[in-house]
Amino acid sequence: MYNPKSLKAEEFINHEEILETLEYAEKNKNNVEVIDKILEKARELKGLSHREASVLLACEIPEKVEEVYKLAEQIKKDFYGNRIVIFAPLYLSNYCVNGCVYCPYHHQNGTIPRKKLTQEEVKAEVIALQDMGHKRLAIEAGEDPVNNPIEYILDCIKTIYSIQHKNGAIRRVNVNIAATTVENYRRLKEAGIGTYILFQETYHKESYEKLHPTGPKHNYAYHTEAMDRAMDGGIDDVGLGVLFGLEMYKYEFAGLLMHAEHLEAVHGVGPHTISVPRVKKADDIDPDAFDNGISDEIFEKIAACIRVAVPYTGMIISTRENEKVRKQMLHLGVSQISGASRTSVGGYTQEERPHDTEQFDVSDQRTLDDVVKWLMDMDYIPSFCTACYREGRTGDRFMALCKSKQIQNCCHPNALMTLKEFLEDYASPETKKVGEKLIEKEIDNIGKEKVKQIVRERLKKIEQGDRDFRF
Ligand code: SAM
Repeated sequence: MYNPKSLKAEEFINHEEILETLEYAEKNKNNVEVIDKILEKARELKGLSHREASVLLACEIPEKVEEVYKLAEQIKKDFYGNRIVIFAPLYLSNYCVNGCVYCPYHHQNGTIPRKKLTQEEVKAEVIALQDMGHKRLAIEAGEDPVNNPIEYILDCIKTIYSIQHKNGAIRRVNVNIAATTVENYRRLKEAGIGTYILFQETYHKESYEKLHPTGPKHNYAYHTEAMDRAMDGGIDDVGLGVLFGLEMYKYEFAGLLMHAEHLEAVHGVGPHTISVPRVKKADDIDPDAFDNGISDEIFEKIAACIRVAVPYTGMIISTRENEKVRKQMLHLGVSQISGASRTSVGGYTQEERPHDTEQFDVSDQRTLDDVVKWLMDMDYIPSFCTACYREGRTGDRFMALCKSKQIQNCCHPNALMTLKEFLEDYASPETKKVGEKLIEKEIDNIGKEKVKQIVRERLKKIEQGDRDFRF
């Protein structure tokens, strides 16, 4: 039986409920009256249920789809302004005991070199990332209790936070590692992590078991209930995601929203972020081998529908996607992007992008400076801000602020001050010129006179060498 408050995977992600949802969506996809009602509710910015959002995803009336896109863009502006948060992944180890059929790190892959960073190598990678201007990382590792035990991950986090190189610092480490125990989540929390990210890959249990034939990840319930354990362990910012291409996208979309509803119903706080990766080519992986690949158009429609369904949740797009798709997705609701990513173990310290240990092929290969300038040329503010969790604004406190749109009062100035740091320390002269102009223009969009004045003072101080101001 479907029950969003249940702690059992098959009850809060209920197969029958998803099938009924898809049937309901199919039946109503051209019902203008129903669609208008859903859009009206979405305009109140309180989000949509998985059933309502599924109708919008199924809708094929061009004018109504256009309305969804416009609304997604508006909601994005209302909650996130024109800021785009920037991060980079850091691959620690590709040792893995699982058999995920879409991932080149799978245990049976005997050709890929296996690598695990030593703490010295972590340090070198972090310095390379700091030298680009990164302040926020997502650490990634395969699942291997012998090679990558939790103690190894904790050591890496400690190393990452300890490195101060020139004016650089990593101020937020998000963690994308396999499902684990409440005790291990508690230890991650104590290590000062930001968001715990775990992609569901697919919500379809039968497919999930086929796609994960061996290893601990085979256990659908253990994987699907991971976020509940993470929250029990004290992590209140969790990031969901589906690997699109593995299963039917409409099924995944309904499952994803049911997961968000479940977190809200049980823990009082929805997902901090939602990621939307698509399967990509990699070492022994051919994306065409999967039957459910989606077009760019469908991909964009999914993003817009996520944005209107869960308006307060951050949405992440990685360098799996090319510049064109990323641009489109920014309009439709994406609020965080990675830049200059290397998806190989030890890739940031190499001159050329290495391919041997890559987890997936990187489509957007621009430098961070290029990405920052590109965003500013489109009038977005690239933000390196990490203030919220450092000021204790996590979980329900972040959501409450975000839902009341108060987050704008600190995020906007914080974005400008962290951008200023980037311009001072890492930008090319051309990027710096564009950035200075943007900051000048955006100071005027700070509502409170007093805040404006403080920001101006702090920007001056940043020019004189001070760092890490935040509201
Ligand atoms: N091993 C952990 C786990 O099982 O969740 C950590 C995550 S893994 C390093 C990061 C994510 O990359 C996976 O959750 C998966 O969704 C994605 N991924 C794996 N293979 C991929 C591929 N060929 N193309 C795109 N994304 C892929």
